[in-house]
Amino acid sequence: MTQTLTGGCLCGAVRYRIDAPLKNVIACHCSHCRKISGAGSSHNAPVPTSALTITSGTPKQYADTADSGNRLYRFFCGECGSSLFSRREKMPEMTVLKVGSLDDASGLSLAMNIWTDSALPWMHIDPALEKFAKNRPVKT
Ligand SMILES: [Zn+2]
Ligand SMILES: [Zn+2]
Repeated sequence: MTQTLTGGCLCGAVRYRIDAPLKNVIACHCSHCRKISGAGSSHNAPVPTSALTITSGTPKQYADTADSGNRLYRFFCGECGSSLFSRREKMPEMTVLKVGSLDDASGLSLAMNIWTDSALPWMHIDPALEKFAKNRPVKT
């Protein structure tokens, strides 16, 4: 089953399409996700980079070094500043989408919390969900 999801930034300058199943959302509580999203945590979903098509505009990118030490590129709209997705230098075939940038993310569900060691004390972390103190183990 192939589903197509669309999304983009707040001002509409950058638009994208995703041709891949997308379901599980990961809430990341690392300090970098807080800064980049301007929120208590960031809601992300991994998608194959090959399934992501930028349909209008060109996102700007910022080269970041994550709490894990990994180098990654954070993509955002240069006009309105909306955070869109990120990509690890060592794993360019995988893109981590900021699901808040989707036009309709209502069909997704929260699957796990990561970097809970650095979560703000007032963030609710559902104990029924899988969680990791730091990064989740990378499946290969
Ligand atoms: Zn924009
Ligand atoms: Zn994070």
